[in-house]
Amino acid sequence: MPLWLRDPLAILAPDAARGLVIDGTRVLEGVPAGREPSVSCDIFDAGRHVVVPGFVNTHHHFYQTLTRSLRPALDAGVFPWLKAMYPVWRHIAEADLRLAIRVALAELALSGCTTTSDHHYIFPPGLEDAIEITIEEAAHIGLRLVLTRGSMDLSEEDGGLPPAAVVQTIDRIVADSARLSDRHHDPSDGAMVQIALAPCSPFSVSPELMRASADLAAQKGLRLHTHLAAHVGEVDYCRARFGRRPIDYMEEMGWLGRNVWLAHGIFFEPDEMKRLASAGVSIAHCPTSNMITASGFCPVPQLEAAGVRVGLGVDGSSANDSSSMIGEVRQAFLLQRAAHGVERVSTGDALRWATAGGAACLGRDDIGWLAPGLQADIAMFRADGLSFSGADDPLAALVRSAPAAADRVMVAGRWIVEDGALPGLDIAALGAAHAVAANGVRRRAGL
Ligand SMILES: [Zn+2]
Repeated sequence: MPLWLRDPLAILAPDAARGLVIDGTRVLEGVPAGREPSVSCDIFDAGRHVVVPGFVNTHHHFYQTLTRSLRPALDAGVFPWLKAMYPVWRHIAEADLRLAIRVALAELALSGCTTTSDHHYIFPPGLEDAIEITIEEAAHIGLRLVLTRGSMDLSEEDGGLPPAAVVQTIDRIVADSARLSDRHHDPSDGAMVQIALAPCSPFSVSPELMRASADLAAQKGLRLHTHLAAHVGEVDYCRARFGRRPIDYMEEMGWLGRNVWLAHGIFFEPDEMKRLASAGVSIAHCPTSNMITASGFCPVPQLEAAGVRVGLGVDGSSANDSSSMIGEVRQAFLLQRAAHGVERVSTGDALRWATAGGAACLGRDDIGWLAPGLQADIAMFRADGLSFSGADDPLAALVRSAPAAADRVMVAGRWIVEDGALPGLDIAALGAAHAVAANGVRRRAGL
């Protein structure tokens, strides 16, 4: 029997003032004002809820939940921060990683996220199957995944930033990427797991690996992701090592195409934004990370005006220390409005970045908004709590007041959050085990 989410307090969907009808994994229809569903339905009373398309997180590093607020890195810029982190990350074991993934996914789900990417780029001994471990853990929680097989092959000895202990050879990276694509990438409409390729950054990856990744992506029909124009140190590095700006370097590597989304995208000149737009490259804006690392910030209105699609990413804990998507929507709204003014940035813009913009980054046209035939990926926030009290416009209040958690979250027609909880997951026990694991990683790293 289809399910009618009846009479929401507010909804971000066209012609659906009386709610949505869900049938199986998809939206069957929106119910306009004054109308009834065209089919008989079970009913969920949404009268206390603000209903939005499930949020799409376009950039994260789940494993980094183990190194939140790490003392040696608290007040470091990006390069010293990374140099403090690499030697700690190499001590993460499989059991630690499983807990880190569970924590990140639980936080994401509880914050209204229904699809998430992850950028995993450390594969020390024992973590060779990190992507498969992520797929296994996510199946318990129920989020839709676009997992990127990250990579680094340029160690300090070769002029890169990371130590030799956390890099791999190109041959190994390419072979594993192809294996993961063949085994797990589902190109079909409604896919729950997709694979993309994500060499980490220009300063930890050789030009040969950048090119090989683009070639493999073209061959397998995969998307490409990396950190780019993320901070001044990277721009300086590209100039010194390659004699060009980051975008010129990536163009030479075959990376300016419709299948590319880039994390951060802070340092683009106006003509470079036009080049990104005409190539169809999209940008994952990570506002909290931009602010914590004081790297500058993504010029979102200028990018959109140039025709570039922009999504939101919580980025890894350690650069953010939170995996809350509703929190990131608010941060994006506040940062961009403070920078560009009330005329150029609205709460609706921030919601668009977190939904349709994110779907564009991930190359998906089956998620990111709520319309007949699209996936039933939905976040519902209670509007009767203290933070909403007195609000006139519930959709604006969702961003401006940003409640701590979603009340109900649905992925492919299945509830994964019910009454503010993840069915079958003991959050207190998970937090306790994760804290012990994080402590163990720090201890093994000599901290
Ligand atoms: Zn990142």
